[in-house]
Amino acid sequence: MCGVVGIHGHDEAAKVAYLGLHALQHRGQEGAGIAADDGERLRASRALGLVGDVFGHGELEKLPGRSAIGHVRYSTAGESSLRNVQPFVVRYRVGQVAIAHNGNLVNAADIRGRLEARGSIFNTSSDTEVILHLVATSIQGTFINRLVDALLQVEGAYSLVVLSENRLVAVRDPHGFRPLVLGRLGEAWVVASETTALDLIGGTYEREVEPGEMVIIEGGRLTSISPFPRRPRKACVFEHVYFARPNSDIFGRPVYDSRFDWGRRLARVEPVDADVVLPVPDSGTPAALGYAFESKRIFKQGLIRSHYVGRTFIEPSQQIRDFGVKLKLSPVRSVIEGKRLIVVDDSIVRGTTSRKIVRLLRESGAAEVHLRICSPPIIASCFYGVDTPTQDELIAHRMDLEETREHIGADSLAYLPLEALHADLGDEAGAFCDACFSGRYPVAPRVGADRHQLPLFQPEGEDAV
Ligand code: SF4
Repeated sequence: MCGVVGIHGHDEAAKVAYLGLHALQHRGQEGAGIAADDGERLRASRALGLVGDVFGHGELEKLPGRSAIGHVRYSTAGESSLRNVQPFVVRYRVGQVAIAHNGNLVNAADIRGRLEARGSIFNTSSDTEVILHLVATSIQGTFINRLVDALLQVEGAYSLVVLSENRLVAVRDPHGFRPLVLGRLGEAWVVASETTALDLIGGTYEREVEPGEMVIIEGGRLTSISPFPRRPRKACVFEHVYFARPNSDIFGRPVYDSRFDWGRRLARVEPVDADVVLPVPDSGTPAALGYAFESKRIFKQGLIRSHYVGRTFIEPSQQIRDFGVKLKLSPVRSVIEGKRLIVVDDSIVRGTTSRKIVRLLRESGAAEVHLRICSPPIIASCFYGVDTPTQDELIAHRMDLEETREHIGADSLAYLPLEALHADLGDEAGAFCDACFSGRYPVAPRVGADRHQLPLFQPEGEDAV
């Protein structure tokens, strides 16, 4: 859970990156940063906070240059602290490098241990820094070869944007877990995690950066290489379920359509006699519209979301998460009172939020609450960059369907079947990762006893927050 953007060949590269990051804010709200290349040196500005706050005080004026990369961070690896906010900019024996990463490397701890044993000193607790060390210690001659050499040693998920020696490099891991798209803005080249960033800056979509592809943009020209061994494509299905913006095309398919189609499918396979279809906003809304359309029932907004608090799922502490649910959703009593409700949500993780929503609806006078979830039960943790809790915290791992329903307090509960998730994506070839729903991991996770990707490294240091 992070977002990246890169731009090459634009007079106001840092400002374009800033706008792109605004469009990607939903992918990470802990910190934001931009690094720019003026042809002589790389400069960066990074801080904890939202994009608008981080760059609201003339920071962009200090970032001249025609190339820039940007990052919004949500910590799936490493603690929440300023030193972990990307892009990382380092100087090594050959020159400077700036890097921004979306994804999670499953073997970063192993590599870090090996490098530290040889004397490397790490500045952050982020898995991304491992890549920089591997670049710096590579014996290859050119920067591109050093980067390839480094990436051949890491496993897991990475969509990267890199600045070095007046070039922008964009690269995606061979499975293609996380999205990365390529576009144009006039003569300039743009890469971004989602197409919504291209839309916001007025750019045009060219294509995806392919799994295992490295795109090198230099002097306005683009070169593409595929230096990694081929792997089966495993795009993260959870981007379509929850994470990406509904106005984005992810992995070549509109996210809105996926959610709407899954809602329709759910209405067919899990019908229920009720009065009103209600979304849990915002990510449940397209699916609820699909459910209402297919079941020919009225759609109403019975829960109004406040947009001035963060998404509860991606807040890191349980304390904030619990508080956030009450802050975030306000019931519309006239829609709810005396009604049998079909409540459509995108997913259930711990069950905490669903339980609170059901309680809120009952307190507001709902006659019945039927919960319909537009994805299968989450039974396993993600190790490729989406923040899911340990397996033991996942409600579908701990409880069966009836126990979950009872715990949440709904009159009925039903999920979208796993086959339907793939069928409605047209995924006959199994090109989507569904490990959090199936437990089938495309890349074996290296996990400790708690079976969790957090933390790879122990928190330490004064700037930890
Ligand atoms: Fe996405 Fe789930 Fe696979 Fe993680 S495990 S990459 S969240 S589908």
